[in-house]
Amino acid sequence: MQTTLADFVKTSPHHDEMASILRSCVHCGFCNATCPTYQLTGDELDSPRGRIYLLKQMLEGQEVSQLSQYHLDRCLSCRACETTCPSGVRYERLLDLGRVIVDEKVPRPLINKLKRQLIAWVFTSQQRFSLLLRLIRPIKPLLPQQFKQKIPDYQPLKVEINTTHSRKMLLLTGCVQNVLAPEIDQATTRVLNKLQISLISVNSSGCCGALNYHLSEHQKALQLVRNNIDACEPYLEAGAEAIISTASGCGVMLKDYGLLLKDDANYREKAARFSSLVKDISEVITVEDLSVFQQVDNVKLAFQAPCTLQHGQRLSGVVENILQRLGYKIMTIENGHLCCGSAGVYSLMQTELATQLRDNKLKALQADNPDCIVSANIGCLNHLQANSTQKLRHWIELLI
Ligand code: SF4
Ligand code: SF4
Repeated sequence: MQTTLADFVKTSPHHDEMASILRSCVHCGFCNATCPTYQLTGDELDSPRGRIYLLKQMLEGQEVSQLSQYHLDRCLSCRACETTCPSGVRYERLLDLGRVIVDEKVPRPLINKLKRQLIAWVFTSQQRFSLLLRLIRPIKPLLPQQFKQKIPDYQPLKVEINTTHSRKMLLLTGCVQNVLAPEIDQATTRVLNKLQISLISVNSSGCCGALNYHLSEHQKALQLVRNNIDACEPYLEAGAEAIISTASGCGVMLKDYGLLLKDDANYREKAARFSSLVKDISEVITVEDLSVFQQVDNVKLAFQAPCTLQHGQRLSGVVENILQRLGYKIMTIENGHLCCGSAGVYSLMQTELATQLRDNKLKALQADNPDCIVSANIGCLNHLQANSTQKLRHWIELLI
């Protein structure tokens, strides 16, 4: 698409990047076919092509309204459109940069602003999130259904750390995953231990920053990014070979640190190195000798491939391949490319769409009566579990 951005964008450090992304879109609309929100509403403004058009209009200087903000807010950032796009349009990057400008031009209603700030404040701190859960667990039965479903029961588990192997990898421990499901990192530690790899918890690390970033709080997010880079630096200098992600939603953000800090002279190189060493746990396991793990026979398994794994990190099929090699029968999931509706804090902000997507996803996952359902992202697990009597697990737990 031809475009000339307005004067107010000319001073932005992202001017050329945004213009280039806009020009790469030929407006063909192939992406609309795989967009979950467009499939639900049928509204062009809830499609990637429509949203790109809204952003284009705004960046070219046309009036931007609450209606544009509304449709941009309804985007899941699932990136299914990027996987489908034949022109390689980096939609998500454009959206992230454009949303900040939209929020500057269209003030949000106070209640919406406070909700976003509260969510960002609570969910980016393991301590605050843990305290919140401790406070609300006793009153869980009294809460509205949509909140009640998301509060897991307390699981007092301690992650065991073995630091004796010569191969060492790092684990960022500041994520809320450790509060919601500590068994995932515990399983990861044990699995890597079987592969003669020590997993070291980087205790001074914090939230990956994805949540703030997608809520248009870029400066706060970049501060979290720098903190994590500083926290890992000494371990990387000492020879740690990788930074492991067990939540694909965090992993996709960690892999973007290099891009996000490319203009920061003090962090550019460190951020690029950090990102180059980030690996989803499936990338580590798939190249190892799997004979140390138990083989299974005749176990039917449904794998919910998180968008952040298949579209964000482009790791389609890696987990399925590992589990297949261990003997699991992997079910085919109808519309497996579609988001489950979790999408970071989307399920808290856009409850209606998120609930429809969740229920569609659960129906597809349960269609062939699998013996177990697994995923690779804590957000998806928590969101789906809220409406399932069958226990959902992280796939890494199957290997212990
Ligand atoms: S994003 Fe890609 S698929 Fe979608 S309209 Fe633009 S060029 Fe076509
Ligand atoms: S990121 Fe997902 S929800 Fe957003 S426009 Fe692309 S396909 Fe649609």
